[in-house]
Amino acid sequence: MRLPGLYNGPMQDLIRKLLSGLGEDPDREGLLNTPKRVEKALAFLTSGYHADVDQVLNGALFTVDYSEMVIVKDIDFYSLCEHHLLPFFGKCHIAYIPSDRVIGLSKIPRLVDVFSRRLQVQERLTQQIADTIGEKISPLGVAVVIEATHLCMSMRGVEKQNSRAVTSAMIGAFRDTARTRMEFLELLKLGSRGGSASPGMSATHECIAEE
Ligand SMILES: [Zn+2]
Repeated sequence: MRLPGLYNGPMQDLIRKLLSGLGEDPDREGLLNTPKRVEKALAFLTSGYHADVDQVLNGALFTVDYSEMVIVKDIDFYSLCEHHLLPFFGKCHIAYIPSDRVIGLSKIPRLVDVFSRRLQVQERLTQQIADTIGEKISPLGVAVVIEATHLCMSMRGVEKQNSRAVTSAMIGAFRDTARTRMEFLELLKLGSRGGSASPGMSATHECIAEE
């Protein structure tokens, strides 16, 4: 993928200024190529802004006679919190009930990348993934659950170091039918991997944008 803005001078100048502002000497040997590397890394980590959902899903929407729940669990994702520009990362779980179309399974993690490789807040990331699946295949319902660790909290020692934020977006049958929602959550068995997450935990544990 071409990454727009890559290697342009202005961003590298800004990163040099940032290093100076932090009390560093941008001209010392170890930092000489850092502006170029940081720019490249940031361009990749925000490449979702330039991704086209239709292109990602191109050729991977199929008409089927299937109306049972489709679940893709444990999709790894990495994103940047827009409040601190620090990573938050974890697992994304997606379910939907098709009406007449499905998305090729391999495309679902790519869809997560499109929205996670941006500056985000966890709630919006969760909602955007759900809304996009809703728009593209008009299923009977969509559910997205994200469990994430926010480095802006754990590295700075805010609240519990090992807490994870859990957010969910439920559309259609998952919102309207408790049994469907419970079936999905039961299949996820959140927290069964020894973590501290539970479906009752709210986004209040998430990165808090203080002044
Ligand atoms: Zn943050």
